[in-house]
Order: sequence, then C-alpha cells, then structure tokens
Amino acid sequence: MRILAERIQERLALEHGTLFGQGRRRWSLIYPSPYAVGMSSLGFQTVYRLLNALPDTVAERAFLPEADLPERAPLWTYESGRPAADAPVVAFSVAYELELMGVFECLRRLGVAALSPARQERDPIVVMGGPLTSVNPRPLGPFADLIVVGEAEAVLAPLTDALFGEGSRAQRIARAGALPGVWLPAQVAEPPAPLEVVDACLPAFATIWTPASALANMFLVEAERGCARGCAFCVMRRQAGRGMRCVPAERVLQTIPNAAPRVGLVGAAVSDHPDLVAIVRAIVDAGQEVGLSSLRADRLSSELVALLVKGGNRTLTVAADGISERLRTDLSKRIEARHLHETARLAAEFGVPQLKLYAMVGVPGETPADVAEFVTLCRELRTRLGPLQRLTVGVSVFVPKPRTPLVDAAFVGIKAAEAQLASLKRQLRGIAELSTGGGRQAWLEGRLAHGNQATGVAMYDAYVAGGGPAAIRKALGLLGAEGGVLSS
Ligand code: SF4
Repeated sequence: MRILAERIQERLALEHGTLFGQGRRRWSLIYPSPYAVGMSSLGFQTVYRLLNALPDTVAERAFLPEADLPERAPLWTYESGRPAADAPVVAFSVAYELELMGVFECLRRLGVAALSPARQERDPIVVMGGPLTSVNPRPLGPFADLIVVGEAEAVLAPLTDALFGEGSRAQRIARAGALPGVWLPAQVAEPPAPLEVVDACLPAFATIWTPASALANMFLVEAERGCARGCAFCVMRRQAGRGMRCVPAERVLQTIPNAAPRVGLVGAAVSDHPDLVAIVRAIVDAGQEVGLSSLRADRLSSELVALLVKGGNRTLTVAADGISERLRTDLSKRIEARHLHETARLAAEFGVPQLKLYAMVGVPGETPADVAEFVTLCRELRTRLGPLQRLTVGVSVFVPKPRTPLVDAAFVGIKAAEAQLASLKRQLRGIAELSTGGGRQAWLEGRLAHGNQATGVAMYDAYVAGGGPAAIRKALGLLGAEGGVLSS
C-alpha cells in the first residue's frame, strides 16, 4: 500500500492547520467520498476541530479512497497513518443520499461488519451524522450503532464522555442513546427530531485549507445557518428549522486566519446576511480571495459584484430553480426574470468570465411552454453577456423532499426526465452549456430521501451485487411500498 501512504504524506505536506492531537479517547472521522470532496465539507471540518479540542481526545481523518487505488486499499487515518478501525469510535459524516454506497465501501475497507447487529465487542462503535440526518436518517439506520440527528456540535462532548466511559460496548452505546438527538436505530423505530444548536455555537469554521481540496486553498466559515425564505421544494426552508441564524460580522471575521489565501463564506442563504458586503469588503481589503456558497440573483449589486471580482471570483452562480416565471411563483422562489437579466448585465459590466444558472425540470405542473420560456430566457442572458463570457446551466430533476410542502408531489419518472433533459440540451445548443446529474440519479435520491431502514438494507444488497444501476433498480424494485415508493 505504498501508493496510499505516499498519497497521504503528499496531502499532509500541502495542508495548513492539520491537528495532530494526543489523547486516549480516539475517534476516526470518515468521509464517505474522496479527500477533495471531504475537505470541502465545513461540517466534517468543524466536528474534527471540536473533537480535537476536547480533553484527552483525538480525532483523525480518513476518506473513501479514489477509484485509482486498489480494491483492497484500507482506510488509514491521515494524522497517524493507523488503520481507522483501530479507534474505539468510528464516525461517518454523510452529506447527501447518494453517499450511501461510499459508506458501504468504507465499512468494507475498515473490516467492520456492515450491519450493526453483526458487530462484536471488539469492534469500533460506528456513529453516523452529517447534513443528511436532518432530512432523513432512516436508510443509514441498519449500518450505524447510533446516529446523531441534526446539528451535532453541542452533543459532541457528552457523546465522547458516554462512548469512552466504563462498561461494555452495548452499555456505552445505551448511555449515548440517552442523549438528546441521538438515535439507536436497532432499538428505537423512529429517529428523534433533528438537533438545533443555540446561536452561541455558531459559526462553524474549518481548521484546514489545502490546494488539494475541491475548494482549493479556501478557509471555510459559516456566515449564517438556515434560511428565512420558503421555497416549496427546499429542505433548508424556514419551516424546516429555526429560520435564518446570522452570525455577527465581527464573529465571522475573527475566525479567519491572516495566512488563509482564500475565504469561503458558507450558508444556505449567505447573500441574505445584512452585513454581507461589509464582510466581503473586509476580507478583500485584507488581501484574501473570497467565495460565497450561494448567491441570490435579487441580492446582487454593483458594489457586491465588484468586490467579488476583486476577491478572485471568475463565476457568478445564481439559481432560477423554476424554469418559468409561473413555476418560480408556484415554488415561492421569488426570483423573477428581471433579476436574472440584471445578473447577466452585472457579469458583463464587471467582465466575469462565466455566469452559471441553476434550474430544475420535472416540477409538478410543468408544460412545454415553461421549457420554451426557459430557452428564451437563456438566449436573452446569452445576448447580454460578451462573446467571451460563458453561460452554463446546471439542470437538476425535481425530487419531492421530506419536510417540504411538496413532500407528496409526484416524481416525473426517469424516462420523462431523461427526455426532457435531452430536449433542453438540444434547444440550448449554441446558447449555453448544460450539465446535469440525470433522471436516474434524481430517482435514487428521491427513493432514499423517502426511504426507511429497509431501503438502506436493499441498497446494501445492491452494493454487494456490484452496485451498478441494474442492481440498484432490482434491489429497490423488490421493496415495493416498504421502502418509500417513488415511481421510476
Ligand atoms: S432555495 Fe435558497 S432561498 Fe429558497 S428556501 Fe432554499 S436556501 Fe432558502
């Protein structure tokens, strides 16, 4: 496994802010996607930082090996090079539904039984958490000894005390299960409501930046959490949580190391922060580049775009979501074509090389007239941009998500979605470049978002059968109504 050891050493040499802790209470933190993705996760980095700050506690990272590494490549932690399964507690951070296959792959490489009841006294306790748990943790249930549901920051200290206390493996798991927000899926049928931390716990901020992250050399800090708006399709909408929790500008700025070359301001609705311009200006004035995790077209101004360009931005990314004015109104998106026109105008004025627009097809009630309106809109945006500026369109397929008003809406179906995407691609030729995850991926995301523990087991069966699309269709097809129905 020389190649794996060398890769880890090369990456460590590029990192700034790595924590080499000491302590008897050892956690392995696993990200079920490759290193570049995991290191761009603010939640993963925050848990790493917070655990390493606890007394007598050390947390070390491991990641799903890249596809070019051998099948048998193990999971070693970056900080000490030890097998990740040697730690008494192994914790996964799962961001979204499609990372479930990565969880299975990591468990295999750890040498830990995938299903929790098969684990023995000597096995590490497997904890799961991450953003996915706020949407639907059920499919993760069969594989976790316990799941922290929702925002984990405040529970990490008592959880560590419980998991590293006296007693057998089962006794320690049971003690952890008594904590708020902790679900023992083998014993309790339904998960608790997602935890929400008090504002004093904010902001989440990273500790490591590295050129090898998908967000190269970017120090991540949260400017706000949640959203005060009410887009009907979105799991971040205000009714799903406490709304938008803003972090005061000075607290955001205090966390940023002077040496960080780039700063990423994170938040579902970061462009709604009332002091955003002041925060961005302070970062740019300090000579650092800056990026925003989301940008609403109706929150852009000349001042903000000028600062973003000065801060190294080469792309303006905004979401239309609904492809027509009518659908955006139906979805309560509150973005109008005029906002998108103004975004293109600002991109042209400030010479931003690329405008990226997100949109969704397969929204309930969509008609060919909506598609035609979107093509016209893209053509108009293209006209506003200069000849050397790119227009790219990221199109997803609408997936009805739990905890939203559209939870019971119909999924358009894989075939219809693929036909829609192919037609849009044809119509946008010469106007915009289109990228998409496709209909099959959206269907799977929906099945898992609505799934239960049986869905998780079916996905594991599919993984054992090779993990390909046919195996997944077959395994989930056998489930019927048991696993959350979403027609294909
Ligand atoms: S789509 Fe954006 S603005 Fe709308 S609810 Fe979600 S996070 Fe808020």
